[in-house]
Amino acid sequence: MSLPSIPGTSRFVLRNVRTLGHEGLRDIEVAAGCVAGITLAAGGAGVDLAGRIVWPGMVDLHTHLDKGHIWRRAENPDGSFLGARTAVAADRAAHWTAADVSRRFEFALRCAHAHGTVAMRTHIDSLAPQDRISWPVFAEMRAKWAGRIALQGVALIPLEALDDAAYVRELVALLKANDGILGGLVMPMPGLAERLSALLRLAAENGFDLDLHMDETLAAEARSLPLLAQLALECGFEGRIVAGHCCSLSVQPDGELARTLDLVARARIGVVSLPMCNMFLQDRATARTPRMRGVTMIQELAARGIPVAAASDNTRDPFYAYGDHDLLEVYREAVRIAHLDRPFGDWANLVTSTPAELMGLPAGRIQVGAPADLVIFHAREPTELLARPHSDRIVLRAGRVIDTTPPDYAELDAP
Ligand SMILES: [Zn+2]
Repeated sequence: MSLPSIPGTSRFVLRNVRTLGHEGLRDIEVAAGCVAGITLAAGGAGVDLAGRIVWPGMVDLHTHLDKGHIWRRAENPDGSFLGARTAVAADRAAHWTAADVSRRFEFALRCAHAHGTVAMRTHIDSLAPQDRISWPVFAEMRAKWAGRIALQGVALIPLEALDDAAYVRELVALLKANDGILGGLVMPMPGLAERLSALLRLAAENGFDLDLHMDETLAAEARSLPLLAQLALECGFEGRIVAGHCCSLSVQPDGELARTLDLVARARIGVVSLPMCNMFLQDRATARTPRMRGVTMIQELAARGIPVAAASDNTRDPFYAYGDHDLLEVYREAVRIAHLDRPFGDWANLVTSTPAELMGLPAGRIQVGAPADLVIFHAREPTELLARPHSDRIVLRAGRVIDTTPPDYAELDAP
C-alpha cells in the first residue's frame, strides 16, 4: 500500500493520524497553510492516513554546515578526534573560500529540507580570517532560506582566542550583526575556570546565549560541565546555555554523575547529544574494536528534568564520514544506541520540541495556528518507524507537499 496523495487544495483534513504524545488517532485539519484543528478521529471526508505516524517539522540543534561534505578532499586517516581536527584545519586553510563554504552549506540545507527539517543551528569555525569569510555566507543563507529553514549560527572558537582583545571586538560585532551565539571548544586546560568565567562575562555583557562543545572525550578527568554549571550559577548568568557532546559524563562514577546532573539542572543548561559522531570518533584505535562509546547520559539527564536533544553534528567530513541531516536517522540511531525503547515514550522530542525550545523557536510541535509543517511516515508504530529509512516520507511545508529528492552529490564538485 503506497502513501495516499495529499490534495493541492488550501483546505483538507488528514484523517486517522498518529501524533506524538497522544494515544489513539487524530484528525488534523489544514487550512490556508496552517493547522486549523486537531481533533479525535471522527471519520468523514479527507485523506485517510490509516493510523500512520505524522511528525511536526524537525529541528536540528547542532550541525557544522561550514564543514560538511569535504570528505573527498579531506579524509580522516586514523578516524580519531585529533585526526579530524588536523584534517579540517588543513582543508580550511587550503579551500574554504566563500564560494566553497556556500556550495557545501546550501547542499546541506537542501538535504535537511528534503528530509523534513524546519530549523537548524550551525557552529561556524570562527577564528580569523575564516570568520570574515564564513559569517557573510551564513548571513546570505539565513536570508535566502528564511521561511524554509530557520537558521542560527554559533561562533566555534578555542577558548584561548578570548585572550586577543582585537579579535574579540571583531567577533562580538559579527555575532551582533547575525543574532549569533557564542560557542567554544571546552576541554580540560590550564586556567579553565578563568577562561569559562571570561566566556560567561563576554556573553552576559553582550546578551549572547552560549552553545559549547563540552568534554568531547572519554577522559574521566574532563569535568568542564559541572564547572561551567557552577560558574553560571555563581555569576547568575541569565542567557540560555546548551552543552553539546558531554561524552566524559559517561565515564563518571555514580556520585560524581549525580552531583553534575544536579548542578546542570540548577543552572538550567540544556544538553545536546551527538550520538552518531561520538560512535565514529570515540575510543577509536587502529585495528582494535571500540569498547567505550562516549554517548552522554541521555536517560539520566532527562530523568533529572534537564532538556536533552539529539542532533546531526558533522556530515561527510573528518569528524563523521556519513550522515545526511536526516533527523529521523538521528532519532533512530539515538534510540538504538541509548536504549530509548523501553518504553519508546516521548523520545521523539529529542529531534522535535526539545531542540525547538532550546533554540527559542515556536517549532517542533503540531499546534493549531502554526504552519502546517508536517512529516507523514509510512509507519503506524515505533518499530515500523525505526526499521526503515522512510525515504518515501511525505513532507508538507505550509500545507503543501514538497519535493523530497535530496541533491545530487555531483553538485558538490567544484566548477
Ligand atoms: Zn559539533
